[in-house]
Amino acid sequence: MKEKIINAIQGLKNKIKCDKVTYRIFDCPMCSQKLRVPKGKGKIEITCRRCGHVFIRRS
Ligand SMILES: [Zn+2]
Repeated sequence: MKEKIINAIQGLKNKIKCDKVTYRIFDCPMCSQKLRVPKGKGKIEITCRRCGHVFIRRS
C-alpha cells in the first residue's frame, strides 16, 4: 500500500519534470516580443527575433 503511494508520487514528479520545459519567457524591452530562452544558464545574451535588439538577462 505504501509503495503504491510512493510510486504514484514519483510518477507525478516525473510527469512534472517532463511537462515542465526548462525555458523562461522574456519580453524584449524594445518591441515587447516574447522570447523563450533556456533556463539556468546564468547571464545570457538574448537576441530579439523580431527587431534584433540584444539584451542581457539572467535565466
Ligand atoms: Zn524586439
